[in-house]
Amino acid sequence: LTMACLAAMDAGTPLNAFVHLTPDIALEQARAADGRRGADAPALNGIPLGIKDLFCTKGVPSQAASNILKGFRPEYESTVTAKLFGAGAVMLGKLNMDEFAMGSSNETSCYGDAVNPWKVDDRKLTPGGSSGGSAAAVAADLCLGATGTDTGGSIRQPAAFTGIVGIKPTYGRVSRWGVVAFASSLDQAGPMTKTVRDAAIMLGAMSGHDPKDSTSADLAVPDFEAALTGDIRGRKIGIPREYRMDGMPAEIEALWTRGAEMLKDAGAEIVDISLPHTKYALPAYYVIAPAEASSNLARYDGVRYGHRAKLGQGDGIVDMYEKTRAEGFGKEVQRRVMIGTYVLSAGFYDAYYNRARRVRALIKRDFDLVFADGIDAILTPATPSSAFGLGEMASADPVEMYLNDVFTVTVNLAGLPGVSVPVALDAKGLPMGLQLIGRPWDEAGLLNHAHVLE
Ligand code: GLN
Repeated sequence: LTMACLAAMDAGTPLNAFVHLTPDIALEQARAADGRRGADAPALNGIPLGIKDLFCTKGVPSQAASNILKGFRPEYESTVTAKLFGAGAVMLGKLNMDEFAMGSSNETSCYGDAVNPWKVDDRKLTPGGSSGGSAAAVAADLCLGATGTDTGGSIRQPAAFTGIVGIKPTYGRVSRWGVVAFASSLDQAGPMTKTVRDAAIMLGAMSGHDPKDSTSADLAVPDFEAALTGDIRGRKIGIPREYRMDGMPAEIEALWTRGAEMLKDAGAEIVDISLPHTKYALPAYYVIAPAEASSNLARYDGVRYGHRAKLGQGDGIVDMYEKTRAEGFGKEVQRRVMIGTYVLSAGFYDAYYNRARRVRALIKRDFDLVFADGIDAILTPATPSSAFGLGEMASADPVEMYLNDVFTVTVNLAGLPGVSVPVALDAKGLPMGLQLIGRPWDEAGLLNHAHVLE
């Protein structure tokens, strides 16, 4: 398998999905896996994976697709990758992404755009973002699965754009230790795979309590694969009316109806529900996420990691910070740091940051109430459109790009699990995905519902 994947990278069309290959590590891990055949081989024995560049991998470049981390090779392994390797997985290399996971198209990467293997008339399309390299690599069969991270949709939106499965687990299910931080109260890692079954197996290997991450939950990890019975009789699926946005393309609307029918045919009950604060989610997210990012990214000072600007005679320490950060951070990252610093500054903190936190609590309460009412899962579209062309959204107004996250950010704000599953192709022949949102810690139930939609 490992040799086949490595050969596929040489032969395939250049998608710029992998940005750093680790064939030596892969072959060594694959050989070790060969020695562990038989009944007690671990869950992912010999399975070749790609790892998003946001994960620290020992001795292997881990740059978060940023020039500021150029040449950074961590001294340690992230908990997620250590667990995957412990389960027998093979690392083929590191995957492209938006810089510091900020973006929805993989166009903010220091390595250049990743390309979606799906095409319309030879037009190059985005694989989505920020886990665009992960999505492209899995969709193009360059690897059997990949790690992603999701702060506002970065697993689910690229999964939908490339016709694969991606799950953002409940906040705290997967350790964040060794994952470069974007917005710590929203970030979660998860698997991106071809099928729901693969996602269940990979999530099982990634999950679990980690004393090195104080927000990781001390809960047993269920057997996610065993939960895929396809039996959802009597389950209540909520259809939130606030997600029926103005200007929603007819194809997305039709897909949503079709998904509801599939679940109903499998014996679930479809219920109209209301999540009244949905329309405030995107603005709240784009205050909270940049606020946390501005704080997390303060550590890139030209001293501790990666890049340091060349200094002139008479330059002091402040010049070093300023020049290093001006050179090292791309435009979108600088924009987020500025927004974040502004909303956290004295005088604006209450008006923006604290208000956004209150809105976040209301969004969470919307979900709590429908789950208390007996709803088992919520069905929505994953994205407002299918994949768009590279360069198409790089307009002067970044808010247009932010609108991509309209269906996904609520889940991160509420800390819930969400899965994106490919359901159909649109008229252009591009994949479209639906999202299922679950109760906290119910990834097993969520994956079982998603299995019905496959
Ligand atoms: N697209 C969103 C953003 O740019 C979400 C990114 C993510 O989930 N990492 O913030």
